Amino acid sequence: MSTAYEMVIGLEVHVELKTKTKIFCSCSTEFGAEPNTQCCPICLGYPGTLPVLNAKVVDYAIKAGLATNCTIAKFSKQDRKNYFYPDLPKAYQISQYDLPLCIGGWLDIETKNGKKRIRITRIHIEEDAGKLIHRQEGDISETLFDANRCGVSLIEIVSEPDLRSAEEVVAYLKKLRSTLLYTGVSDCKMNEGSMRCDVNLSVRKVGEEAFGTRTEMKNLNSFQFIARAIEYEFRRQVEELESGGKIVQETRRFDEVSGKTFSMRTKEDADDYRYFPDPDLCPIIISDEKIAALRAEIPMLPEERKERYIKSYGLTPYDAEMITAELKFADFFEKTAEKTKYPKLVANMLISEIFSYQLEEDEPIKIGAEHLASIAEMLGSGRINSNTAKKLLSEIWETGADPHKLVKERNLEQISDRDVLLAYVRKAIADNPKSIADYFNGKTSALKAIVGKVMAATGGKANPIIVNELIDIEIKELR
Ligand SMILES: [Zn+2]
Repeated sequence: MSTAYEMVIGLEVHVELKTKTKIFCSCSTEFGAEPNTQCCPICLGYPGTLPVLNAKVVDYAIKAGLATNCTIAKFSKQDRKNYFYPDLPKAYQISQYDLPLCIGGWLDIETKNGKKRIRITRIHIEEDAGKLIHRQEGDISETLFDANRCGVSLIEIVSEPDLRSAEEVVAYLKKLRSTLLYTGVSDCKMNEGSMRCDVNLSVRKVGEEAFGTRTEMKNLNSFQFIARAIEYEFRRQVEELESGGKIVQETRRFDEVSGKTFSMRTKEDADDYRYFPDPDLCPIIISDEKIAALRAEIPMLPEERKERYIKSYGLTPYDAEMITAELKFADFFEKTAEKTKYPKLVANMLISEIFSYQLEEDEPIKIGAEHLASIAEMLGSGRINSNTAKKLLSEIWETGADPHKLVKERNLEQISDRDVLLAYVRKAIADNPKSIADYFNGKTSALKAIVGKVMAATGGKANPIIVNELIDIEIKELR
């Protein structure tokens, strides 16, 4: 395939707000209830009912806008977006058209070429549609309708077409997700649909200014699917163009099983929706005082924390990005880092060990900051080696024991005495002539086996740096 093409991607991300009730009525938004138990004449669009805007929706949307560097519009309004689809009882969705609540923001992401700014066009508020459940039983296929989601409050975050790869898209979504999680406006659970993404993708020859015709892939809800859908759709469009074809502006569905995208319908333009201001809802007017009060409630955000971790604790941008992605890890890191001279070791243990435990969103961190700081101190000062640190961590995670006590009781201190280690090294070399022969035949990695033998013989407690030094010296003697 020709590599002379690049992809141009803009995203529309729908995020469900954490309001207790829906956007225009007092129905509950609790996830997982029995179908059609959380709806009323308003969210079902009965004639004669009137919507009342939930004030919390506006507050949350403004917070999301401030956290993503948007300007908050002092005057905005809500419009009807008219379309007919079985999941939309009213046959229109209340959204915002030409005067959205938040405009012109950005988020910075970490890419392999350094920091990149992704511009945000707008954030507007709108209501969600219901859910269609398609099922097949024997010869009968039927579609069921659940209205619980009708009228659930959403924000839609629209980016400029600044993204150029699947990695950038995932980095942007992760940054957006962590930023929103910090502000507390949404739980951003992708598996429950409270964060979903529409991908607008086109291709063009590298160096060209004009955009190609784009297609839209709707409602992708995992980072993995998004990346796969993008890779497939990019290849499809390039192949189409290379073989003399044309790209049709359309909505395409990504099939998770085959990993392919399929045409669903040709894309509607704004004209097709016949937008007009909703006559039942008054304009939204926001004061400077309101904006200032909401700004004051926003905690220090991931980007700001990241910069601080790089500066104060010497972390790499990548490590700082990983740790700040979730508020609970960032808070835990800060608490631990304050208690030790070795914050980089704390970061290492968080990323390489604790992250590998793959905690669920609401699962707590089962080790105290004091204990992790103690392990970092012992590791940093050479009292224990990294192997022991790792074992301690997983044991304390289960039992909550005191790391100092464990090291003492079990005699886990690192062996750094050169005379003691030399005896182990000489024995390992004498017992493993094949590894030594391999080494002299050019297989440099063969010495790892010798290190492994010494580690095993010392119960994993040998100082690996000194062991490597001693092996080097002994091998030179043998030459
Ligand atoms: Zn309702």
